Order: sequence, then C-alpha cells, then structure tokens
Amino acid sequence: MGDLRKPQHPQPQHIQPQHLQPQKHEVPHAEPTPVSKAYWDLCAQGQLAFQRCADCGFINAPATEVCRDCLGTRLSWEASTGRGTLYSWTVVWRPVTPTFEVPYAPAIVEMDEGFHVVTNLIGVEPDRIEAGMPVQAEFHEVGDGLVLPYFRPYIAPAGR
Ligand SMILES: [Zn+2]
Repeated sequence: MGDLRKPQHPQPQHIQPQHLQPQKHEVPHAEPTPVSKAYWDLCAQGQLAFQRCADCGFINAPATEVCRDCLGTRLSWEASTGRGTLYSWTVVWRPVTPTFEVPYAPAIVEMDEGFHVVTNLIGVEPDRIEAGMPVQAEFHEVGDGLVLPYFRPYIAPAGR
C-alpha cells in the first residue's frame, strides 16, 4: 500500500526557489530624525504606526511636522493594523552594493488605512508575487538595533 498522504502530483525535481528573506546584516538606511524617531521606535516594538492630523483627519505617512492636507500641526500617532495589499514591487538580483543579499523585493504596500509604505517582501517565492495580494507587516532587526518593517503574504486565521 502506498502512503495515502503522498502528494497527488510528483514534486518538481529542480530546486524550489527560496522564499524571500529579510536582510541578515545592516543595510544602508536613513537615520531617524526628530520627526521620524517615533516611527522607528514603534517599529522596534513591532508596531507599524502613522500620523493622523487632529484637525482634518488626514493620514500623514511618512511622518511630518505639518499636515500635508491642512498645514495643521496637531499630529498624533496611531497604530496600523499592519495589513494591506501589494501595490507594486520589483525583484532585485543585482544588488546596489554588496551589502544586500539577493534576491530581495522592494515593494510598495497600500495599507488598509489608505497610506503607502515602502518596504520589502519576504516569505514568498519571487515568481509567486502578485499585485493586490494581501500582506501583513513583520518586523526584523537587520543589524545594530535597526528594525525594519517587512511584509509577507497574509493568511487569514481559520474561521475568520
Ligand atoms: Zn490636517
């Protein structure tokens, strides 16, 4: 008798492409400023956040000192759900500097709250990336205390 759990179709013989991974070493990055420091501090705590204007409700992301919609200065931080959909991406096989391990996939994610995040995709094979796919934030330290928000495909919990 054969193993009933055996897959119906034979597995491909070639090596499966690896899922995209976070960078393992420190990569070039912007330094936190007095305006953006709160964003990076919250990333280090595993929380994606954005600024909302108390005067007009507009979401400001990236962080700013003055609301991009009404020029108001009463901006407060709110927690994002961390979920969104993939807006655009590219897969890099020739890194800008040797610091980066390839492949990696810079991407723009449209968050459920409506703002965009420039990020990198992980946990998916480069050939399986699709526009509009649901994604969720996942945080990884890439060296010297820098924690970056990456995004991986979102799988809804069972029963939801
Ligand atoms: Zn405003």
